[in-house]
Amino acid sequence: MAETTSEGLRIDPSLFVVVKEQRLSILREIVANLSAYEQLRVRLSGSVYVGDYRMPGWSGALPFYAFSCQKHGLVVNYPTGYRKQLLCPHCLEEG
Ligand SMILES: [Zn+2]
Repeated sequence: MAETTSEGLRIDPSLFVVVKEQRLSILREIVANLSAYEQLRVRLSGSVYVGDYRMPGWSGALPFYAFSCQKHGLVVNYPTGYRKQLLCPHCLEEG
């Protein structure tokens, strides 16, 4: 697995797929490690901060939140877009 650098490098398109799948499996792992208390807090308040994580290919960490998706159940992602919305990463993958 090639490392990405900040100096304009060329990335093989297949590398994006690898990074994407790594990211999704990390997100699933974070969900699997949520405590019963964190899961309860998601149910009570909609979303819960679960920590700062740096995904493969990222230069820095971002705050991640657990929340619930109607289709995928408990999921984890970082707020995206200028509105900082929490969108299910699996729904995003499915388009
Ligand atoms: Zn979903």
